Amino acid sequence: MAGLGKRQNTGETSFIDNVTGQKIVKLGGLEFPPRKVWMKTFGCQMNYHDSERILSHLKDLNFSQTEEKERADLILFNTCAIRDLANTKFYSQLGEIKHNKKKNEKLVVGVGGCVAQTEGKALVKKYKHLDFAFGTDVIDSINDLVFRSYAGDGKFSVNAWDRSTDFSIETKITHGSPQAFVNIIKGCNKYCSYCIVPYTRGKERSRKCKEVVEDVRKLVKYQGIQEVTLLGQNVNSYGKENNESLAMLITELDKIDGLELIRYTTSHPYDVSDELIEVHGKAKKLSNHLHLPVQSGSKTVLERMLREYTPEHFLNLCEKLRKANPNIILSTDIIVGFPNETQEEYEATLKLLDEAQFDFIYSYVYSARKGTKSAKMSDTLADDERGERLRYLQSYQLKIQEKLRAPLKGKTLRVLVDGQSNQKGIKKWKGRTNGNRIVHFEPIESDKNYLWHWVDLEVTSATALSCQGKLVKDHGKRIEMHDSENSLG
Ligand code: SAM
Ligand code: SF4
Repeated sequence: MAGLGKRQNTGETSFIDNVTGQKIVKLGGLEFPPRKVWMKTFGCQMNYHDSERILSHLKDLNFSQTEEKERADLILFNTCAIRDLANTKFYSQLGEIKHNKKKNEKLVVGVGGCVAQTEGKALVKKYKHLDFAFGTDVIDSINDLVFRSYAGDGKFSVNAWDRSTDFSIETKITHGSPQAFVNIIKGCNKYCSYCIVPYTRGKERSRKCKEVVEDVRKLVKYQGIQEVTLLGQNVNSYGKENNESLAMLITELDKIDGLELIRYTTSHPYDVSDELIEVHGKAKKLSNHLHLPVQSGSKTVLERMLREYTPEHFLNLCEKLRKANPNIILSTDIIVGFPNETQEEYEATLKLLDEAQFDFIYSYVYSARKGTKSAKMSDTLADDERGERLRYLQSYQLKIQEKLRAPLKGKTLRVLVDGQSNQKGIKKWKGRTNGNRIVHFEPIESDKNYLWHWVDLEVTSATALSCQGKLVKDHGKRIEMHDSENSLG
């Protein structure tokens, strides 16, 4: 099979069919007429980004995306193994696809991503209607796999790791928005005791700084991208093997004309360097929002999680970041109910929420993942207790958020509009501020399309989860400088 990393020299040619007038793509001995692909993605931004890459590659084989499963020639799932819930949803949807296959014998079904990486072979064996499975490191070879399937290669699973020392790709985008995800590092070397990621995504490998900067420059120049999110499981580890760093990369990206906003996700607190903290104070285009997952406020739980930092270290980091950039907005991830979490350990997390004053949190009950260290720990905590602790923690945090966001009322915030919302029958538009807060507003001209416009909104009400605003100024689709007073919230 062709290279597992970058797909080069793809070999497709195309011609127009004299009878139908349709474009036909030729690869090897096979002809690919226009076909439809339906794709379902579970999990994190990394998975959504991978799906976008897959769809972009499939265009070369004459596939276009459809939202209607019934019209699809190819059905793909991109799976997530982080928690049991995503797993359960995926298995139930995969089961249902057998009805589609009964109606359309030519339908090809593939499963990719984290579940396929570890369980691909078993999946293909168990589900008769599944044609192939592919792991996280063969995403850029999707066309080779689809080719194999159409060539009649039977059922197969590919979950090989890319063994090359270099990680080199070009960002692929299929949407028309001015926002792009740019993968800068893959894999994770941390092995937190609860986490499946190092087993589904492999060892850390970073793209070279020069390559990423060139990639972003092209996205800005040729694709109209104004906002990039640098992606990786632990972006703070970026560049270690090449003597480069995230701080260096952001400093270079900050110089690109036409780029307005730089975000990055996800961070591991242990690897946040002083150099990076300094960049949070200096880089003009770096977002005022930082997502910094703490997981727990208890020293002993953090030890059992193998997180390598203490609550004091984490709070000290928050303080340093706030000193470097007084407008910084922090958010986090919390896992409630780690094996044998005591009431005292749980309360330490509530205390940390008070101290850290996060603008929002993602919180989850602990989910044991097969193969991880914590899954082997004896655990006396009941699931009901876990659920109760999560609900209380969420209501506790909402009160913090409400207080934190109340002063936003009356302020003017700049937002990049990313969609419509319907609130109590009123048609509105919505977008995110630089600090990642959602603001809804009613259009002044009801028929005007505000999608991907930069607008300034005066906040008329602010709740724990979102704000309502009044349109003050519509800047249109491009602004010269995002760096203004209105970009601070
Ligand atoms: N790399 C990031 C870090 O180190 O914090 C996290 C990436 S992980 C894909 C996203 C979030 O899923 C984690 O921050 C954690 O809160 C949650 N998570 C991971 N494994 C989990 C598990 N076994 N049970 C519950 N939540 C989990
Ligand atoms: Fe998982 Fe993040 Fe820990 Fe890596 S750093 S093992 S992705 S939680």
